[in-house]
Amino acid sequence: MPTTASADAVGDVPAPFTADDYRARMDRAAASAADAGLAGVVVAPGPDLVYLTGYQPTAITERLTVLVIAPGQDPVLVVPTLEAPDAEKAVGAPALTLRDWTDGKDPYAVTAPLLDRGSPRTKSGGGRFGVSDNAWAMHLLGLQQALPGTSYVSLTEALPMLRAVKDAHELDRIAAAGAAADRAYGEILKVRFAGRRETEVAADLARLLLDFGHSQVDFTVVGSGPNGANPHHEAGERVIERGDMVVLDFGGLKHGYGSDTTRTVHVGEPTDEERRVHDLVREAQQAGFEAVRSGIACQDVDRAARKVITDAGYGEYFIHRTGHGIGVTTHEPPYMIEGEERPVVPGMCFSVEPGVYLPGRFGVRIEDIVTMTEDGTGRRFNATPHEMAIVE
Ligand code: ZN
Ligand code: ZN
Ligand code: ZN
Repeated sequence: MPTTASADAVGDVPAPFTADDYRARMDRAAASAADAGLAGVVVAPGPDLVYLTGYQPTAITERLTVLVIAPGQDPVLVVPTLEAPDAEKAVGAPALTLRDWTDGKDPYAVTAPLLDRGSPRTKSGGGRFGVSDNAWAMHLLGLQQALPGTSYVSLTEALPMLRAVKDAHELDRIAAAGAAADRAYGEILKVRFAGRRETEVAADLARLLLDFGHSQVDFTVVGSGPNGANPHHEAGERVIERGDMVVLDFGGLKHGYGSDTTRTVHVGEPTDEERRVHDLVREAQQAGFEAVRSGIACQDVDRAARKVITDAGYGEYFIHRTGHGIGVTTHEPPYMIEGEERPVVPGMCFSVEPGVYLPGRFGVRIEDIVTMTEDGTGRRFNATPHEMAIVE
């Protein structure tokens, strides 16, 4: 296992986000909420809060931290007093008002007035708010008890495209994360596969992602032989053998933005059938990528990739959607799936990852992160060869 950390790999720090960037995002959240008929959005610590303010509490605890954004009002971040010094340092802090509460006070009583100013009102007298999907139930119940007239809907369902369109700085980060994942792939081809457990190769992949500047590894799928036919398989104790196809799907966060790429390699010389299925998935991935053009809907990416596989008679073995969005998380809207009729617009970033899974035998998946550029064409953020690599 080569050690590969190098200054250029981890030193490519992108331009920092500014308070203005976060102000623009919060303004857009308020405007989108108004468009959706919501009185505002209630944001919990996690990806939504990071996206909107740059603030990530060191630990997410039972003490209430919540950002309230409502059209026509200044955004307010409610934090426990002991977290206030950290929150003040967040890059987005100048774009919001900080309100702290001390232990012994009722944090819901502190937050309620912020929600009670909102409009429009529902029949029950309060506003309807989009709430972060990962908000703790105890906090949502506390707010509901403090203001029984308010109601809440999933922020992802109400404003699915809130984080979907990336600005130039975000695109730079996603590109950097993709390049780092590509370098990890380049190195993993040099390690030994035959005779080692999937978990060992997965550990190599995780270390490589960190070596190339990831701060967080979200997944390192190593699906060898029959395990590759299960798209949910991560990595297990199976010993990889000569003759195995091996699905490698890995990613995480670098500078706060995600990578996610898949290549399928073979240990030693493949059979004709393995080559044929791999070629088919390559062709499907290419078709999905080429479908990315102005005016298409998300489902058109899925249709283009799926048609190639279906036409070849393998349709029943392509058992998942073609792609998902990526940003401050590695899986988020928009989804490239039949029925998703929203348009693909410039700045969206998503995976194109068709696969064929032959139960009990092997699987093949090829995945790149793709964006639509301003000129309405696709651009890949992964550049490693799609051809089946032969490993030892
Ligand atoms: Zn084989
Ligand atoms: Zn993946
Ligand atoms: Zn993916």
